[in-house]
Amino acid sequence: MEPISKDKRKYVVINQYKGDIYVHIRTHRINNSGDYFATKWGLALTREQFLALEYHSAAMTEAAEEKAMDVKYHLGSSKFICFNGKIDLRRWFVDNIKGITPGHYGISLTKTEWKKLCKLIPNIKKHLPHIDKVGLCCFGKSREEVMNCINCTPYVR
Ligand SMILES: [Zn+2]
Repeated sequence: MEPISKDKRKYVVINQYKGDIYVHIRTHRINNSGDYFATKWGLALTREQFLALEYHSAAMTEAAEEKAMDVKYHLGSSKFICFNGKIDLRRWFVDNIKGITPGHYGISLTKTEWKKLCKLIPNIKKHLPHIDKVGLCCFGKSREEVMNCINCTPYVR
């Protein structure tokens, strides 16, 4: 559990759920006993999705430096990273009228918090089992395989 914000509210936590490993980037709160607990505000990334975050991290830093609004990358399934004034990690959903729209669940990072997260990436990877055997999802796969992958093509079913 590594803090990425100065107020120690935003943490990166690795956990296992139903046999799968997830990297949570999540807002935490303190309960009455002084213990931190995770809120639903944040994202849980699979190892493939975390590698996608790493893959796009330099471009996201550049977008933040240049204030390039609406730079957006797909991390996998409904999860995207975009720059909208902050670095926003969020689930997006299909709205019949508006198209793909940002949802409630996610977390926004300041440039400083984002840089802290980027610095932690190599260390986080060390704690992810078999990360050297996990690649970017569908990297080098055919268009048909990408279309049939629920992680890479989540909205067209
Ligand atoms: Zn895929």
